[in-house]
Amino acid sequence: MKKSFIFYPFLFALYPVFGLYARNLTEIQPREVIRPVIIAIIATGLIMWLLNRLLKDRERSAFLAAFLVFFYSASELAYRVIEGYLIHGLNEAYHRVLLLVVTVMLVFLGSRAVWDKYMPPARRQLMVSYLNLVSIIILIFPLYNIGAFWSKAIDDAPQPWSSYIGANEPPQTLASGNSPDIYYIILDGYGRADALAALYGYDNSPFLDELRDRGFYIGDQSQSNYLRTSLSITSSLNMEYINFTEDLAGAESTDRIPMFELASNNRARQLLEQAGYQFVLVDSGSAFSRFYDADTFITPFKTRPNLFEMWFYSTTALGALYQPELPITPTLQEYLPVAGYATHRAFIVDALDNLSNVPDLPGPKFVFAHIIAPHPPFVIDENGNPLQPDYPYVTGDGASFASDKEYYIQGYIGQVKYLNKRVLTVIDNILKKSNRTPVIVIQGDHGPGLLLMNGDTPDNCLWERASIFNVYYFPETKTDALYPSISPVNSFRTIFNTYFGTTFELLPDKTYYSLFEVPYNFLDITDKVRNECGVTP
Ligand SMILES: [Zn+2]
Repeated sequence: MKKSFIFYPFLFALYPVFGLYARNLTEIQPREVIRPVIIAIIATGLIMWLLNRLLKDRERSAFLAAFLVFFYSASELAYRVIEGYLIHGLNEAYHRVLLLVVTVMLVFLGSRAVWDKYMPPARRQLMVSYLNLVSIIILIFPLYNIGAFWSKAIDDAPQPWSSYIGANEPPQTLASGNSPDIYYIILDGYGRADALAALYGYDNSPFLDELRDRGFYIGDQSQSNYLRTSLSITSSLNMEYINFTEDLAGAESTDRIPMFELASNNRARQLLEQAGYQFVLVDSGSAFSRFYDADTFITPFKTRPNLFEMWFYSTTALGALYQPELPITPTLQEYLPVAGYATHRAFIVDALDNLSNVPDLPGPKFVFAHIIAPHPPFVIDENGNPLQPDYPYVTGDGASFASDKEYYIQGYIGQVKYLNKRVLTVIDNILKKSNRTPVIVIQGDHGPGLLLMNGDTPDNCLWERASIFNVYYFPETKTDALYPSISPVNSFRTIFNTYFGTTFELLPDKTYYSLFEVPYNFLDITDKVRNECGVTP
């Protein structure tokens, strides 16, 4: 009898990978998907081969391998469907029960007894042809979406976006001289003191006083240039507004992929590297600030899976093993961190730990740390104890925040208090350990998102979202060029003019709105966000 050609187990194994990628096309770089694809293919081949050696039955081995790999690659998703739609509040431990039940069921369906009884040779042939066909059909949908996205996206970045930076200014180089280390620390979503007082009833002035005592300048009228993390950080690192992206990608574009290059190859980094600096990245797990090509990449874990991998593994059977009550979890996490609250928390805590040790690295150095706090999710209380939100891991803020306002206020202020304590220690350590007095900038990339919960539109009050924490430590207190409403786009201009002999003109401090999903459709909201809206949460 002719041997049937069996390929469906491989396509079944690829479906969860391509499915997840197809749902996140606008923020996943294709190269991030390569490793999971290779692993899926190798794992399937290996399991098929092993089963075949054991069972001496090609069709049965393929059947078992296909459905086991397929199910194990998406079991956390299956569990969440059950939890979300059928049995609310189901404990994650039931993911393990689900794994067991389905495994037993599949082993039974693939058992010799069942096949001898119900699978005569002709039916086996038919099943292989049928499953081969099904495996092609299910892959058509994600592959079609991926193809459609990329056939459009290919026009968005004919040349790297960073090549457009500085086009309207005479080029400048940094004078080498006393070369202070530069620390640029983003505390994601950290709002301005008056916004915290008005909307959260929280007085942040003791912290600001501590900073003033140490010689910090407080930009107490600062507002961000953009309201979204990726735009704000990309712009501040490039020292200019990035509204030209609207012409490159189109106002209706949803494609954030070219922005990775623009953020990573940013102008501040390039100028400093030309001046002999090494670039040190303190990893926070945030997609837009994981510049893997940094000279020194400091990450909390023993391995460096990319963000897609961390998301993908968290949807697989591995998700069942990342539970606080399991003794294996901490070790597993160290080698294979998956997206979730534990990993999120480790990124925050370790980034703060690591910042205190960075001064030991040889200089001169440009240190960039983007810490995802006090931004939601709220995973740490004010004393540093772990918090576990009672909804599946999401990082959404404002209109996409997964809980209510009371919880937001409490969680947000808890993380502010935690950060305040940790940040003061970090500052003291950096100042104590540095050979030369460094420059330190600590900044919110945008404000909090409490009022955005009312709706993420330009008609709502955006004052809170635009008002940022923004403080500067300048050696020898050369703070003459700083002013209360300085915005992030001017941070590096001021640093370079003050310490590196450049003559960058300061740009007008403006704020632009755009939707998270449609990032390049900019609306100038500068005048609107200057005033407190009189809205209470
Ligand atoms: Zn942010």
